[in-house]
Amino acid sequence: MLPPFVWSDVCLRHEPAAEVWVGVRMPATEVPARALAIRKALVADGATEVAPVPHDDSALLAVHDPALVEFLRTAWGEWSAASLPSDRVVPYVFARGELTGGRPPALPTAVWARPGLFAYDTMTLIGPGTWEAARAAVDVALTAADLVADGARVAYACCRPPGHHVTRSLYGGSCYLNNTAVAAASLLPRVGDPVAVVDIDAHHGNGTQELFLGRGDVLTASVHVDPGAGWFPHFLGFESENDEANLNVPLAPGTGDDGWLAAVARAAEFAAGARALVVALGVDAAAGDPESPLQVTAASYGEAGRILGGLGIPTVVVQEGGYDLATIGELVVATLDGLCEAG
Ligand SMILES: [Zn+2]
Repeated sequence: MLPPFVWSDVCLRHEPAAEVWVGVRMPATEVPARALAIRKALVADGATEVAPVPHDDSALLAVHDPALVEFLRTAWGEWSAASLPSDRVVPYVFARGELTGGRPPALPTAVWARPGLFAYDTMTLIGPGTWEAARAAVDVALTAADLVADGARVAYACCRPPGHHVTRSLYGGSCYLNNTAVAAASLLPRVGDPVAVVDIDAHHGNGTQELFLGRGDVLTASVHVDPGAGWFPHFLGFESENDEANLNVPLAPGTGDDGWLAAVARAAEFAAGARALVVALGVDAAAGDPESPLQVTAASYGEAGRILGGLGIPTVVVQEGGYDLATIGELVVATLDGLCEAG
């Protein structure tokens, strides 16, 4: 059995075309075909598709700085009007805090300098449909949250681009708006606190962690490849960041089913007792995924679903990473199946 899934064609409009990694323009991996492959697998298994309901910006602005939202809304228009040599918005200077002695940096006059106020990497490019797709993904996540707030036990937001690497005011990691965090924040006034986020993407959910740090009303747990072993997001995702409202479980490269499932069980235990759960579902920990060195099988994604479903709390599942087009659909279906089976 599968939960209803929320889908918008607008999420396909984001075509990053490339990512600039170590100074080299490489083919993008966060492509529209990812979402289409997931949808195909869901439909083949008889899942019910739900159209997103448009939401105003209030839930979005509850987690993101209005300046970031305004930048993303206007970045492509300004960039394309400036006739620059790059066909995508890409930063070349970065407004690091020390550069301005802690004072807020000026809004640069040069359009080509503005991305450096909001981007923290060079691999998250903005093109003609990026804003529309990222904003549609927020509506997809909010609609899934609405379904759960209205009584569904599980609902799935089949959206892209992903969001868990976005902080209050900085975008990066192929993410623009934090769909998972927006969904969690929107649930709070309706279900009460705490709401828990369990992030099982192969990479640390640094944006979500930063957004809810020190609040206590949203518990954040993340199971991911150890950034200390050389993996994105590099600067954080360590056990030393753990406290009563945040749990990081970093795993050694090569970790397979047993180690990964034990970590998922730890994250589930951390979330037990929450009023609602948001699962940041990246399936890039899978053995065949090109973006991480974890070695998890599809059967274990099903087991992870059963572990999280076993908490017996209303659950919104939001799509994050997963880059192996041949298996992404079955991995998502296995997880959702497990989640619903446990109920
Ligand atoms: Zn990932």
